[in-house]
Amino acid sequence: METKLVVYNTLSRKKETFEPMNPPFVGMYVCGPTVYGDGHLGHARPAVTFDLVYRYLLHLGYKVRYVRNITDVGHLEHDADSGEDKIAKKARLEQLEPMEVVQHFTDRYHKNMESLNVLSPSIEPKASGHIIEQIDMIKKILNAGFAYEVGGSVYFDVAKYNQSHHYGILSGRVLDDLMAATRELEGQEEKRNPADFALWKKAQPEHIMRWPSPWSKGFPGWHLECSVMGTRYLGEQFDIHGGGMDLLFPHHESEIAQSVAANGKAPVRYWLHNNMITLNGQKMGKSLGNAISLFDFFAGNHSLLEQPYSPITIRFFILQAHYRSTLDFSNEAQKAAEKGLKKLFTAIATISKLSVSDRSTSDIHGLRQKCYDAMDDDFNSPIAIAGLFEGVRIINSVRDKKETITSNDLEVLKKTMNDFVFGILGLKEEESRAGSEIVDELMKTILTLRQKAREHKDFETSDLIRDSLAKLNIRIKDTKEGAEWNFDD
Ligand code: ZN
Repeated sequence: METKLVVYNTLSRKKETFEPMNPPFVGMYVCGPTVYGDGHLGHARPAVTFDLVYRYLLHLGYKVRYVRNITDVGHLEHDADSGEDKIAKKARLEQLEPMEVVQHFTDRYHKNMESLNVLSPSIEPKASGHIIEQIDMIKKILNAGFAYEVGGSVYFDVAKYNQSHHYGILSGRVLDDLMAATRELEGQEEKRNPADFALWKKAQPEHIMRWPSPWSKGFPGWHLECSVMGTRYLGEQFDIHGGGMDLLFPHHESEIAQSVAANGKAPVRYWLHNNMITLNGQKMGKSLGNAISLFDFFAGNHSLLEQPYSPITIRFFILQAHYRSTLDFSNEAQKAAEKGLKKLFTAIATISKLSVSDRSTSDIHGLRQKCYDAMDDDFNSPIAIAGLFEGVRIINSVRDKKETITSNDLEVLKKTMNDFVFGILGLKEEESRAGSEIVDELMKTILTLRQKAREHKDFETSDLIRDSLAKLNIRIKDTKEGAEWNFDD
């Protein structure tokens, strides 16, 4: 199988022709979310980015095994006051089984992914379901001499590893600088070197998420789960590993070190990293008060939002930038995306109404090729989208009789718009609540009935209508011109 797909590999720091180890099969691993709290806009970007990669590989005919994990143990989400694992803390305070907390947030994450039209991965493993494999990998690393045990915890020996390998191969960091720059963190007194990281941590008495191991009752370090689950489902070497740039160091750097130490080979051929989203030019974070949850985005439920933004508008907004570029959220940019999306769908709905001619005034095959060339060039979605808007322009010109198109070209144009808009970019038309024509018509009828009831002094019926609508978050306002209605968000 031959394609012209070129990807930017973080490992080599250059674009490379994509050649999977065992075509047409492709193994792809993407670091999924830490399941705690509701996802915010920053979480939408890796999800949409690697959904685009996944969809395009499938479109090219590859058989992709896409593994996206759920981090439910050993992650870095620690409570600022107690230092306690947040899942464990919530479970303790609310007397829940920790896995109930995990399930709750996993369900909410899936809801967001579905709204954003992100395809489910082939396998979605959880860290807590792979404790045995993680213990096995720690044993391998210990046997290879790249880890040591102290007081029931096991640490990766970065300095030892760096004597025969290169810790920093992915991030370009230098170990000496790392050692000087590492802050004083928990467990520092146990480590031989500040840059060492935990493979296994002995659980403190209050830590309820704990498993038996040869070293102590405890839990695995965060970096380990991805090495283990990648190896488990994709083999010791696989094609693509993706994630946000914020995970490049130390998470992915450490994944490489662990796999090389345990299995003797580099685990991944192509490392792909998406850039971050800023909000009105600022980094997003809980402490900055601007980490707006996706649910709030969809409902317009935050002081920084001028209106609700639909999930597909957000998806389109993300795809309008190349995944390695920074992306800034603003109400203006989001509204522009909303407008653009409308234009795109209106044009697609127009295609079937166009009349054909015996000659085409535009190069439709060239347009289709332009869209493929863009995607082949490291998934350049903004250039592909520009190509699709060229398609919109042609459609509107033919509609207005300013241009002509043959029936063959019209089929190619239709296929191009459908393949790219719905298949590859994963956009879809949403039923907007307030905008739906049926809802408008039904509301008109209901308000007329209410008006009639009031005229007959049948206040029981008019109140019943008002109260029933209130339950649906629909608010009625009586004005001189008659009754108006609104969704009460
Ligand atoms: Zn990971």
